[in-house]
Amino acid sequence: MTVRSAIREAMKLEDDQKGPIEVDVHREPPHTKDDADYKMGTEREYCGICEHYQVKKKDACELVQGYIQYDHWCRFFEEDTEPAPFVDDQ
Ligand code: SF4
Repeated sequence: MTVRSAIREAMKLEDDQKGPIEVDVHREPPHTKDDADYKMGTEREYCGICEHYQVKKKDACELVQGYIQYDHWCRFFEEDTEPAPFVDDQ
């Protein structure tokens, strides 16, 4: 289960009034940019439409460390068919 899907599931459970669900969105992403082959994306595949992008805050990824640009890509790309709402806790 990805962090994003965990957040979605928690939101559904909260909607069902089963109480707040804790989701750990502060963990360090496991991959470096080199490890992920991070580079400029294509018209059809880029971070801005990826399942792993913007989970907790803009320009971040749950799998790749550091500042992540919207128009870039890596080998862990998975197109998001149901974008999650932007969450800003600052
Ligand atoms: S393409 Fe890679 S770096 Fe970009 S959001 Fe998806 S997993 Fe993260």
